[in-house]
Amino acid sequence: MTNACNPTPPNSPNPLRLLDYEPALESLGDDYFDEVAAAEFPEHILRWRNDALLPQLGLDPKTVTDHHFIEAFGKFQGVRPFLALRYHGYQFGEYNPYLGDGRGFLYGQVRGADGQLYDFGTKGSGRTPHSRSADGRLTLKGGVREVLAAEALHRLGVRTSRCLSLVETGEQLWRGDEPSPTRSSVMVRFSRSHIRFGTFERLHFFRRKDLIEKLLDHVIEQYYPAVADKSVAPQDRYALFYAELVRRVAELAAQWMAAGFCHGVLNTDNMSITGESFDYGPYAFVPTYSPTFAAAYFDYYGRYSYGNQPGICRLNLEMLQGPLSAAIDPAEMEAALAQFDDRYHATYRQLMLNRLGFAELPAELGSDLLRLTLQLLKDSQVGYGDFFAELRKQFSPAWRDDASLIFSAAEPAELLQPWRELYYHILQGLSNAELEEMASRLRRHNPITVLVRPEIEAVWEAIAVEDNWQPFYDLLKRIQAGD
Ligand code: AMP
Ligand code: MG
Repeated sequence: MTNACNPTPPNSPNPLRLLDYEPALESLGDDYFDEVAAAEFPEHILRWRNDALLPQLGLDPKTVTDHHFIEAFGKFQGVRPFLALRYHGYQFGEYNPYLGDGRGFLYGQVRGADGQLYDFGTKGSGRTPHSRSADGRLTLKGGVREVLAAEALHRLGVRTSRCLSLVETGEQLWRGDEPSPTRSSVMVRFSRSHIRFGTFERLHFFRRKDLIEKLLDHVIEQYYPAVADKSVAPQDRYALFYAELVRRVAELAAQWMAAGFCHGVLNTDNMSITGESFDYGPYAFVPTYSPTFAAAYFDYYGRYSYGNQPGICRLNLEMLQGPLSAAIDPAEMEAALAQFDDRYHATYRQLMLNRLGFAELPAELGSDLLRLTLQLLKDSQVGYGDFFAELRKQFSPAWRDDASLIFSAAEPAELLQPWRELYYHILQGLSNAELEEMASRLRRHNPITVLVRPEIEAVWEAIAVEDNWQPFYDLLKRIQAGD
């Protein structure tokens, strides 16, 4: 493949298989998963390897060949057992007890260079006891889309899973939402955890208080070090965990909103217990600022629309109180959840001010700027990501001296005027050094490459029509370079 470091397969030990895999979840016993085997695929063509992640695994990309990737993450040789995780979930508000990893499994768990535990989870690796009537496969387009989403979100500062690899597998799949037959793939995802809200919902369904507590202990120990203090009584530890989860999810919702991201399917089986964003199916970056924008074609009533995300996250946290009430005082959970809105708004405001070039602004000034910015984005229907990219590109310290220079070419100018006046007013109070700092802050927070659907479709078109992967690699390069 084009972005690989090493062309051909030497018969060397495979560094991906030799990683120090920890049986963290496996050691909890088999109540939480089913052991499964991977499908055998007719072909294995490595389409993407995320070399940017390898140093986090203590690996030098130069020592890992494409062949190593294929062997480990296409043919799934070595490192068993593979665990299809059991979970239920609320899908569009309806409880579904027939979920679980139906096309993926936990390949293994490793400790990153940062000392934290990470999952390698597959998607598209074959049927499991949870597949129901489905094929256990991932379309190549679905894989391409998830790779792109994760890298773009990471660049935008969202706490997200990423993709380690994407292997095309040479099968023909039939899907209602893609011209079919369509090509197949298997992906390996790198994330903090694949334990979901729905993992706890399932245990609650079976009235297994013991398993809920055991899993909570595990989650706290591995993913909530700040509340893992063993000298604190378990009851209090669990309550502190829930409060921290509320904070993390509120921050995640704010990160999505500031990034202009609509996840699309915020069912409770797609909510990670670590508060990390993952599982990108029919997502979209909003073309323009529009709270009612819904990403999934089957989201008829806009339940998971862009603007509903904070509210839905809060609702999902509230529903999780049912399962957790086996271990945590409901009144304490209510009190923790009451903090959600403040945390969400404070984070959203901070992130938006950053995108506008500021570290912080006095309370009222910040609120005014945020209000006028959203008004402008809504009324002008300028591209959401483009607005911030243009701000980054056009910003100049000279804006402080002449208001007419601020987005000087904007049409119609009347729409911009209130925003321009306020922005100018704020710049008046800044020193030269602060203006310089603004320029670099704008670069940090506003990528020029905006992953709207036409961008993804163009990349996919080249792959589908002429098997040309260059636009995909070029796009990823731009995203990863921070352009
Ligand atoms: P998702 O909408 O991708 O979060 O998936 C919801 C549920 O459907 C999960 O239990 C998946 O494992 C399962 N699922 C989705 N697509 C497939 C498929 N092609 N084969 C088997 N199970 C699937
Ligand atoms: Mg899912």
